[in-house]
Amino acid sequence: MLAAFEYFAPKTVKEALSLLAKYKEGAKIIAGGQSMLVVMRQRLLTPEYVIDIKGITDLDYIKYDEKQGLKIGALTTHRTIEQSLVIQKHFGVLSEMEGNLATIQTRNWGTIGGNICHGDPAGDPAPVFIALNAKLKLASSTGERVIDMEEFSKDYLEVALGPGEMLSEIQIPTPAPHTGTAYEKLMVMKGDMGIVGAAVSITLKAGNGVCENARIALANCSSVPLRAKKAEKVLIGKTINNAILTEAGEVASTEADPLADVHGSAEYRREMVKVFVKRVAQIALERARAA
Ligand SMILES: Cc1cc2nc3c(=O)[nH]c(=O)nc-3n(C[C@H](O)[C@H](O)[C@H](O)COP(=O)(O)OP(=O)(O)OC[C@H]3O[C@@H](n4cnc5c(N)ncnc54)[C@H](O)[C@@H]3O)c2cc1C
Repeated sequence: MLAAFEYFAPKTVKEALSLLAKYKEGAKIIAGGQSMLVVMRQRLLTPEYVIDIKGITDLDYIKYDEKQGLKIGALTTHRTIEQSLVIQKHFGVLSEMEGNLATIQTRNWGTIGGNICHGDPAGDPAPVFIALNAKLKLASSTGERVIDMEEFSKDYLEVALGPGEMLSEIQIPTPAPHTGTAYEKLMVMKGDMGIVGAAVSITLKAGNGVCENARIALANCSSVPLRAKKAEKVLIGKTINNAILTEAGEVASTEADPLADVHGSAEYRREMVKVFVKRVAQIALERARAA
């Protein structure tokens, strides 16, 4: 049973922002409700005012051009991202990631903004966005600010949204030439939350194939989606081979600080980080070579 609340369904961003400004900490946004209703039912959240933004069609879009990169409106559903031909062509890793996120029913209704703002460190999109160097546009009645995806998650289910702020857009730059990105998670069944997950992006120098840049982010390995910077350093400046990939996985597992739960101990998860970082980096490397 949910605690009582007052319900609003604004149809514009401006209307939503003025409601957020008016009700501040007492207000909570709901988009697809796939996570929000769970935490409300558990009484982890008991907002006095619920602002349902699902009807704001202006925040449901995917735009791409080579200069500006990719822009995804916060209310775009997982399924729309999965099936977008533009995303399949230019950011295939996003479409692949979405294909393994939850069930089709959840993907049909859950939004990308809701996923990011829920702040679950086991979520799939955040590590992929970190690997792709994404930024988030946050709007409030007093203006807008842009924050790195990497800085957005603060703790378990806590993100850097101020009172009165909402996420409006995810921005992803066009990757440098010779870049490959991949993401995989350890699942018991397809569509499960990952026991661990790894996203890796590798950029090679033209001509000699030396790794110019690498970004590695882990899912479910800390209280936030975790960037494995020491493991990145193992790859950067090297001609990557099997031994270097193994070392990157080992170093990433020392950066991981996972919790134990019914799906696996912390030790098991660290072992899986070794396997997944190596495996995913190998795929990213092959993609970078082919790009
Ligand atoms: C059965 C099931 C399986 C799942 N499996 C996976 C999985 O495998 N991988 C995975 O990553 N996720 C998984 N999820 C989580 C799912 O992806 C999220 O629940 C969903 O994307 C959240 O989007 P929503 O629109 O429903 O957000 P809501 O539930 O409406 O909101 C979630 C949170 O975000 C806030 N919020 C929403 N939109 C905004 C905004 N624009 N600005 C500011 N705050 C906002 C809300 O206030 C709330 O705190 C699963 C969920 C279910 C129910």
